[in-house]
Amino acid sequence: MPRPVEALIHTEALAHNLARARAAAPDAKVWAVVKANAYGHGIEQAYAGLKGADGFALLDLREAERIRALGWRGPVLLLEGCFDARDLELCSRLNLWHTVHHEAQIDWLAAHKTHAPHHVFLKMNSGMNRLGFRPAAFAAAWRRLSGLTQVESIALMTHLSDADGSRGVAQQLAVFDEATRDLPGERTLANSAATLRFAPTVEKVRGDWVRPGIMVYGSSPDFPENGIADWDLRPTMSLRAQLIATQALKAGEQVGYGGRFTAERDMMLGVVACGYADGYPRVVPDGTPVLIGEARTRLVGRVSMDMITIDLTPAPDARPGSVATLWGVSPGGTVLPIDEIAQAAGTVGYELMCALAPRVPTRAV
Ligand SMILES: *Cc1c(COP(=O)(O)O)cnc(C)c1O
Repeated sequence: MPRPVEALIHTEALAHNLARARAAAPDAKVWAVVKANAYGHGIEQAYAGLKGADGFALLDLREAERIRALGWRGPVLLLEGCFDARDLELCSRLNLWHTVHHEAQIDWLAAHKTHAPHHVFLKMNSGMNRLGFRPAAFAAAWRRLSGLTQVESIALMTHLSDADGSRGVAQQLAVFDEATRDLPGERTLANSAATLRFAPTVEKVRGDWVRPGIMVYGSSPDFPENGIADWDLRPTMSLRAQLIATQALKAGEQVGYGGRFTAERDMMLGVVACGYADGYPRVVPDGTPVLIGEARTRLVGRVSMDMITIDLTPAPDARPGSVATLWGVSPGGTVLPIDEIAQAAGTVGYELMCALAPRVPTRAV
């Protein structure tokens, strides 16, 4: 028998969450962002749930090839554009749309030979200071691109740095709006946080395309202010493993490396076949929630490479073979949001799902 740990990918939940993005921005088209192997879900495993999107956005050319290999004929957007001139050949061959965020990418395009002109997304740095042309240089970049026979259309794009935070989107929106006022073309600004928090009320945030990622994967972009239940999102990845042993602890006995946890009273302990080599974060403290069957319990003792140890007090019938859910949904439908584990680890849901280890098999259900 293979080691009893797996990640289930919930097809209906992906479709549901995608529909939530659509409902938040009903007149916009939706890029399902599937970079980082669909946020760790596996592009192939997530595809059935996401194929109702208007397009797929990602940044690794190998991943773009995988989307095409699945039979997707609609739009595919490279969010960082080409990394060198030769990448344009793959764009032409697979009809990939690509972001243009610096001058060299325009030079490569100007020198590229193609019979099929490209759809490009011209990116503005409206304040995040990562990728894109400064507002003052944006129109000139647009004019250069629009003069190229290699270019079929130019959409206008920016990325918001604080849609989930206190600064919100007003400042960047104003900068983008002002610098694009006289330019034609579709517009796209919104990630998940902007889609949920601003797109329903601010038309300019909706634009022509929204670009939700994390919300589609059942993690709240503004946790803990709002959790997935508040946004009506469902977990799309359930990390589950079986108990492989139990121990009867006496009061005062300690558990695991360093003996971090000491039993307060006599108790049953469960050993679960999932550890940091599976992508479960090593840094989480005692008390981090875990589901055993349908019962919510706590992690006790340090996370090991291949195992964690949990308090079986709320689940007296638990035996080797019982199913523990580390995040996601239990077999009976109890939800443990990945955001709670991420918070305990001092990080965000994004990092945990992306860090699911390759040794954990993923299975679409
Ligand atoms: C990753 C990414 C997104 C999606 O962001 P989420 O916060 O996961 O919704 C949108 N746009 C760009 C350019 C990105 O890189």
